[in-house]
Amino acid sequence: SAYSAVNQGHCHPKIVNAMMEQAKTLALTSRAFYNDKLGVYEKYVTEYFGFDKVLPMNTGAEAVETALKICRKWAYEKKGIAENQAQIIVCENNFHGRTTTIISFSNDENARKNFGPYTDGFIKIAYDDLDALEHAITSSKNIAGFLVEPIQGEAGVYVPSEDYLAKAKALCEANNVLFIADEVQTGIARTGSLLAVCGNCTCEAKCEKQPSYVQPDVLILGKALSGGAYPVSAVLANNEIMNVIKPGQHGSTFGGNPVAAAVAMAALDVVNEESLSQNARVLGKLFRSELQKYIDTSSIATLVRGKGLLNAVVINDTEESDTAWNICMALRDNGLLAKPTHGNIIRFAPPLVMNEEQLLDCVSIIIKTLKQFEK
Ligand code: PLP
Repeated sequence: SAYSAVNQGHCHPKIVNAMMEQAKTLALTSRAFYNDKLGVYEKYVTEYFGFDKVLPMNTGAEAVETALKICRKWAYEKKGIAENQAQIIVCENNFHGRTTTIISFSNDENARKNFGPYTDGFIKIAYDDLDALEHAITSSKNIAGFLVEPIQGEAGVYVPSEDYLAKAKALCEANNVLFIADEVQTGIARTGSLLAVCGNCTCEAKCEKQPSYVQPDVLILGKALSGGAYPVSAVLANNEIMNVIKPGQHGSTFGGNPVAAAVAMAALDVVNEESLSQNARVLGKLFRSELQKYIDTSSIATLVRGKGLLNAVVINDTEESDTAWNICMALRDNGLLAKPTHGNIIRFAPPLVMNEEQLLDCVSIIIKTLKQFEK
């Protein structure tokens, strides 16, 4: 699915048609002028996800940058942090994109090395560690936000403990710190609910009324927001946060352009119309249980983990090995495309439109391939 972008399937006719129709009508206007698509999209997307406002951007990294800027501005103008003192807490092994600021708080040497000097203002803590979060939040009055992936995707599909997100949100709320969820990879039905912060809720939209829903103060979306057809990303927040950004203070030539708006609405329609969350949830369970049966007797695969159709298989070798890569090459030869996230982790993130027969086909290719590598 191109790193969880093509959740709705490649070249989905509804999305492609929306893109072509809009491209033939009006592709781009200055954001200083109104057009007949952006407002409709803003209403649609804010109602869909249950927020007052959206700030449209293009790529995931731009949306993360936007969220960081909103968080800092909120910290100075609403929380009263002294100028240039705001700190944002992030997690070890995060992946939020590739801009200079974002790689400043990465601990992946590949992403960082020789791209310095780096941006200040970030505190890194262990993922899925509430004590570390509490300590960091309470250690300074300058904490503005906590930026977190509800499941760490690029790190190797690390699903945190059941109550991690809810308790992290509660800690943020108690300390007037913004809870910023980066759902660029986990969002839009990928993990078996509309958003990973929806927890166990299976409805396709407006999950905020469900008990398991953890409401982010700032929600970051990208990738499958367009079904992978076009670069569309978004930051959503309520007025008391989003309104710190005034016209002219942040933006992008292409952000929220009419084609992007039309494509995103079609892509989100598809999520609802084709019950993609439900499908991801059901097929994800099947994927893990079928693979687990093999893993129980395997010498090459040690575990399968994930949620919905965002899963990883861990290989019995070191992080530095090239075994996962070699297995991916063999998977390719056997007819299935997947990519390692590390030397010993393979991520499986197919489009969410697949059916049970296709999924079981994939499972049999994966098992057949892994067997080739058994010692
Ligand atoms: N945030 C997360 C959680 C991601 O997984 C990614 C990309 O993989 C990004 C942000 C960056 O998105 P983009 O590559 O569109 O800039």
